[in-house]
Amino acid sequence: MSIKCGINGEDLDESQIFLCHHCGMPVCELHGWIVAADDAFADSEPESSPAPRPAMHCRSCAERFHKTVAKRHGWAEPAAQP
Ligand SMILES: [Zn+2]
Ligand SMILES: [Zn+2]
Ligand SMILES: [Zn+2]
Repeated sequence: MSIKCGINGEDLDESQIFLCHHCGMPVCELHGWIVAADDAFADSEPESSPAPRPAMHCRSCAERFHKTVAKRHGWAEPAAQP
């Protein structure tokens, strides 16, 4: 079963798709925006302490909820500069 990337519209395998944690839009790692330290988990998990952690975002939610923080494509940490 294939799913369309919510940002770029390309067909992707289910395993390549992540969901924006604000609106649930399916996005791929290449086009989605990862906020490395997202502290907006408090809403969805009221019992847990909202420790910042990486989260996937569609373009509009990255703009709307995390306009001022650093964002990147891909889950991997950027390589440390030597
Ligand atoms: Zn979204
Ligand atoms: Zn994509
Ligand atoms: Zn977020």
